[in-house]
Amino acid sequence: MYQHNFNAGPSHLPESVLKQSIGAIKNFDDTGLSILEISHRSENFTTVIEEARSIAKELMNLEDDFEVLFLHGGGRTQFMEVAMNLLDNDKKAAYIDTGTWSSKAIEEAQLFGKVEVIASSKDKNYSYIPQSYSIPEDASYLHITTNNTIYGTEYQNIPACTIPLVADMSSDILSRDINFNRFSLIYAGAQKNIGAAGVTLVAVRKSILGKIKRPIPAIMDYCVHIKNGSMYNTPPVFAIYTCLLTLRWLKEQGGAAGIEKMNIRKAEALYHEIDTNPLFKGTVAKEDRSRMNVCFVMEDKDLEKEFADYCKKEGMYGIKGHRSVGGFRVSLYNAVSLESTKALVQAMEHFAKVKA
Ligand SMILES: *Cc1c(COP(=O)(O)O)cnc(C)c1O
Repeated sequence: MYQHNFNAGPSHLPESVLKQSIGAIKNFDDTGLSILEISHRSENFTTVIEEARSIAKELMNLEDDFEVLFLHGGGRTQFMEVAMNLLDNDKKAAYIDTGTWSSKAIEEAQLFGKVEVIASSKDKNYSYIPQSYSIPEDASYLHITTNNTIYGTEYQNIPACTIPLVADMSSDILSRDINFNRFSLIYAGAQKNIGAAGVTLVAVRKSILGKIKRPIPAIMDYCVHIKNGSMYNTPPVFAIYTCLLTLRWLKEQGGAAGIEKMNIRKAEALYHEIDTNPLFKGTVAKEDRSRMNVCFVMEDKDLEKEFADYCKKEGMYGIKGHRSVGGFRVSLYNAVSLESTKALVQAMEHFAKVKA
């Protein structure tokens, strides 16, 4: 049975990406070798990483000052790497706390300097995006999490900011047409919107680097990775290849602007059902709803297990809510189709009819 994959991460990949990935494991680029067993310094692979870099830059429309890196360690490594590279011990950084991932980023940054949490939505279980705060001019940077994967909120507007703006975009990168040049550093684990687990995309402005006093271990130093073209150590070759295929696919969908149109239709269809079906209700402020992670609960908690079982039977995968919210979380990342979204909406309608 076809599985409609709504998992929060790792998540659904386009059919064509999976097919080409499998092909490359067997015989990469007609070399007679697998992509898993060739040199990362071979021309066959350097072509891959160069194209991945240039297509990422193109899709984000990044200014020339930006470098795009493909690093190990996932989003979590960036929580510390950002602070290690940008925050001196005697300086401070500003953070906005909008959920579990922001909180983790804050904890890690505190190891390197002072952190001022200028706003938080913890008071209401992270069900909204804080709107009023002032950004200290003397902070080294402001860090935000543009989409809160666990709670299902997303910044609809990027904060105006005169200090460098740093963003964890792990769960909404390239899902909408925003001005990426508003940021000074963007990072995203690939496994939600742009590929397979094992690689993290970092886009950083060169002009913000090399300004702190702390010695940085080479493997954690963005400057070292820039100098070595993300090949300071053996890069995660297969994850980068999958990323390239996904970025190519995204370009075919019309890039960020093209996929945004589809993402709007998917999110609208599901939120409409949540708002009109009496069995369900959303868990976050309407104006801050995420298009990527849709969180909802059932009015009657006792029905949740039955609905979950019904969805499983219908081939819906990965819709269980995170334990900190409960209920359901449906992830509608770029590769999830409108058809899958409609299939879930139909399941919700059908379940309501049976229960009426
Ligand atoms: C998934 C996620 C992370 C963690 O990424 P890892 O690659 O598992 O380290 C960090 N931030 C956000 C917003 C996420 O969604």
